[in-house]
Amino acid sequence: KKEAALYQSVLITGASSGIGEECAVFLAHKGFRVFAAARRLDKLKELAGAVGAGRITALAMDVTDEASIAAAMKTIAEDGAPLYGLVNNAGASSMGPLEKLPADEWRQVFETNVFGLAAVTRAVLPQMREAGRGRIVNIGSLTGRIASPFQGVYAASKHAVEGLSDSLRRELVPYGVKVSVVRPGAINTPFGAHEAEMLERYETDAPYGDQVTTFKAWFERQHPAAPGPSVVAEAVHHALTAEHPKSRYVAPPKMAYAL
Ligand code: NDP
Repeated sequence: KKEAALYQSVLITGASSGIGEECAVFLAHKGFRVFAAARRLDKLKELAGAVGAGRITALAMDVTDEASIAAAMKTIAEDGAPLYGLVNNAGASSMGPLEKLPADEWRQVFETNVFGLAAVTRAVLPQMREAGRGRIVNIGSLTGRIASPFQGVYAASKHAVEGLSDSLRRELVPYGVKVSVVRPGAINTPFGAHEAEMLERYETDAPYGDQVTTFKAWFERQHPAAPGPSVVAEAVHHALTAEHPKSRYVAPPKMAYAL
């Protein structure tokens, strides 16, 4: 058997930036064999090179594209060991008044955050079920419990992650596969800056302009002051390794007051 097979292996989607990247590095340093997946392969290769020692394998994967999921699964299978963990982290957002948002933009949110998550999960399940063990960690959001204005479709997608995870957790009990949701609050990654840019489009638009400007100013104050993604990586690590992982983690934990 290859040496890699001695490690617990984990697939992380959206590992080219922010929370996913932090999880990849954190878990690699904890001894996991990490498969880091995203669309930007160059960024993943850079990350794998920086961590070194063959701990991270870069995988091109668009979670909205079944063929690219299948190709990545083939590479993982060639490694020889069944996957122990899946961190469904890849995410997209769409911010602005519902009345104004382009439909293709908000459809992409569900394609990524819900259907993409379901498709990757479906692809890993046979090997986890057959191994009789596995951990699935879905990155939800506090927005999956309570929503601010101008993020309706994103909030809906993260509520969907909660429902999907609850159902799956019960469905997989007989097979030893455990499912947790990690709900980050505001975390300082490129995600927030991109969301602020999306809001900017509507600042001069009647009738929502002033309301968007006020909300955007509040939103922008949250993100730079927010903690870095390591708080999420710690929660993900716990969900992967605890004997009895919680069904839900809030990261940082003090944000739980918001719920
Ligand atoms: P980033 O923008 O830093 O990272 C998003 C990641 O998702 C990138 O690696 C991107 O990679 C990947 N991604 C997007 N679309 C796809 C796709 N179709 N296929 C594969 N990968 C994709 O954001 P964060 O790290 O902040 O966000 C990660 C997760 O955390 C998301 O699910 C987000 O909803 C959630 N979250 C974030 C919060 C925050 O405040 N930052 C708060 C609550 C939840 P690439 O472009 O290379 O494909």
